[in-house]
Amino acid sequence: MTAAVEAAEVGYRVILVEKEPYLGGRVIRMNRYFPKMCPPSCGFEINVRRIRQNARITVYTPATVEELAGTAGNFKARIRVKPRYVTGAYSLDDSFTAQLSATRPNDFNYGMDRTTALYQPHDMAYPTDYVLDRAVLSASDEAKLAEILPAGAVDLDMAEQHLEVKIGAVIVATGWQPYDATKLDNLAFGRLPNVITNVMMERLAARGGPTGGAIIRPSDGKKAENVAFVQCAGSRDEKHLPYCSAVCCMASLKQIRYVREKNENARATMFYIDIRTLGSLEKFYYEMLDDANISFVKGKVAEISEAPDAGDLLVKVEDTLGQGNLHLQFDLVVLATGMVPAGAAEKIPFRLTYDEHGFIDGTTNIPGVYAAGCAKHPCDVSRTTKDATAAALKAIQCLNGGA
Ligand SMILES: Cc1cc2nc3c(=O)[nH]c(=O)nc-3n(C[C@H](O)[C@H](O)[C@H](O)COP(=O)(O)OP(=O)(O)OC[C@H]3O[C@@H](n4cnc5c(N)ncnc54)[C@H](O)[C@@H]3O)c2cc1C
Repeated sequence: MTAAVEAAEVGYRVILVEKEPYLGGRVIRMNRYFPKMCPPSCGFEINVRRIRQNARITVYTPATVEELAGTAGNFKARIRVKPRYVTGAYSLDDSFTAQLSATRPNDFNYGMDRTTALYQPHDMAYPTDYVLDRAVLSASDEAKLAEILPAGAVDLDMAEQHLEVKIGAVIVATGWQPYDATKLDNLAFGRLPNVITNVMMERLAARGGPTGGAIIRPSDGKKAENVAFVQCAGSRDEKHLPYCSAVCCMASLKQIRYVREKNENARATMFYIDIRTLGSLEKFYYEMLDDANISFVKGKVAEISEAPDAGDLLVKVEDTLGQGNLHLQFDLVVLATGMVPAGAAEKIPFRLTYDEHGFIDGTTNIPGVYAAGCAKHPCDVSRTTKDATAAALKAIQCLNGGA
């Protein structure tokens, strides 16, 4: 979004291709973001306004680039736009969706709740149109929609579109996905419901999330009053992700603040190898050291298992600063899983080079193609937006005869 608005605001035409039905990437799924702890709506609303006001930007969602060929200044792309089955001719609301019965996991909330086949991805979604998941629309729901919706509100025969466009430069900003925590067998994610991941914690704490912002445990809805944060869950580990994702320490410190702000009696413990809060972010961490309800234990968690008290969890860890082997009990555990580049699973159809983890190598080294944000390296929002502005500048230079 940043690269698009920066390029468009100096007079260039931009096509923004997003595979989800909404813009905003992973950031729009955060509760708040460090260091200022603003809700993601802050930056998002400004960018949406800049997009809406700028006729030079065309947005395609849910869409991907299925073919890309050519050279700097002269590329051709084929864009595949998937059908939403909702025409946009009428404004819909949740009174319609509530009348349907078949449900699907709500991907926006990392599967912690469900939506019906007709849904709006989230309450700040842009584009604002609803989406229909044709695969889960049952015969009875289809009949219900015909009964309750104005004729022409949905089009079940809507076809996929394939659009050919000519472009001068390409910016790849395909971002990241959370590491699959089910691969961390010793940490019991997927087996014990009260072990969740950091991205799930963002949705749990969010007002628009599955619990309306209450930090409660999935197994029984009990208030989470004693929460463990397990750092480097799979990260800096040759068997999983050998690299550091650069944001997980700050993300957990931020989430400890959610826990403490929502409940003054709540306690949090962070298990870490090193706490990596670079530059001015260190202040964020230091301010938390005076809170008696927050503990920091230096040690890599060896195992998470069920405690005798229903739903509680036992965390086994060696405290490397002197207290030896510990077995501590918690009512919720949050795994700080790292970021996997989108390029690890799905690559742009072009001859880009990737490192062994799937991050795009450097600035791509191909004239006219530039990478930005987590497609290139794990980083925070501030670095991502700086990268995006730099990529927009490079693209503009390319269109003006530069490299
Ligand atoms: C738990 C956690 C908490 C975090 N909290 C913070 C925080 O508080 N503050 C902060 O500064 N940073 C935070 N971060 C980091 C932040 O999420 C990233 O810096 C940011 O998401 C990077 O933005 P991006 O645009 O590179 O990638 P993304 O946010 O992943 O956006 C990429 C977009 O590209 C789309 N896409 C992917 N593949 C394709 C394709 N083939 N075709 C079309 N579209 C595609 C995706 O759907 C997505 O919309 C956190 C990270 C984690 C793991």
